[in-house]
Amino acid sequence: MTPKIDRQHVAQALRGAYDRVKNTTGGKNADYIPYLANVPSTLFGIAACLTDGTVVAVGDTEYRFGIESVSKVPTALLAMQQYGAQEVLDRIGADATGLPFNSIIAILLENDHPSTPLVNAGAISACSLIKPVGDRDGKWQSILRFVEALCGAQVGVIDELYRSESETNFNNRSIAWLLKNYNRIYDDPDLSLDLYTRQCSIGITAKELATLAATIAAGGRNPVTGEEVFRAELTPKITAMMATVGFYEHTGDWLFTTGLPAKTGVGGGIMGVVPGVMGVAAFAPPLDSAGNSVKAQRALADIAAQLGLNLFDAPRAAVREAQAAKA
Ligand code: GLN
Repeated sequence: MTPKIDRQHVAQALRGAYDRVKNTTGGKNADYIPYLANVPSTLFGIAACLTDGTVVAVGDTEYRFGIESVSKVPTALLAMQQYGAQEVLDRIGADATGLPFNSIIAILLENDHPSTPLVNAGAISACSLIKPVGDRDGKWQSILRFVEALCGAQVGVIDELYRSESETNFNNRSIAWLLKNYNRIYDDPDLSLDLYTRQCSIGITAKELATLAATIAAGGRNPVTGEEVFRAELTPKITAMMATVGFYEHTGDWLFTTGLPAKTGVGGGIMGVVPGVMGVAAFAPPLDSAGNSVKAQRALADIAAQLGLNLFDAPRAAVREAQAAKA
């Protein structure tokens, strides 16, 4: 029997996962961005937000960590909201690369063929597409306001992280200019890269990230603030992208194990979306070899198993229900 998804069951599942995972060792903080190497490695928190707005949290869920690559999700959504999903598919794509997030080879191999906004190349390309709002720093305002509407909170850049990342992002600079070479960037490469670096440096809590995920799960309506943030038709598009490449070269293993569309960041955060049901986020800095948080992925896998969140398992539940109704 699939457990009921209400506050009590979700709270139990989070607590159970937290207790089982908290002593997990292994992995190490990202160190190619100096700021991230110095975040306390023992921090660990899990939060969930149901599509009725109920928020449940355990552990370090108020700590503001670098959102990093999880920010690729809101920007991909914003590009689809502004241009339509088909145009983003045509201009960037939705294919897995099967390669690390910052792969240059992936660009060379697919130079005539788009990839996905959920790896660095596609994300920098998505930043280049964003239409500005307001009259100052318009593209950035557009991205920041969208993230804030999704998570229902004011968030900002962690200045030290932004500086640390800007001073060391040589690989991403190469990506931006390589994209220019292949006509796959739609604005100035340096400006687009700076937008990308800024969005990665946004500080966010696990609770806010869970709410952001829940807004996606709820078809674009923030379940806490009630604001309509994006068109409902984009939820299956962004969750398909997350399912395809959310864990980079480990995505297949993750999906096989959990059936949960999720996106990771090298700040240690992971956000999972269960369409129609809930958003869930976990945070712990030590990462595996692909740059995915060791504890956060264990915690989300544990919760997905406890609550029966595997999307690909939905038919079994439906058949069971149909048979019960007939009996
Ligand atoms: N800002 C980081 C980078 O570009 C994000 C990577 C990640 O979280 N996977 O390298």
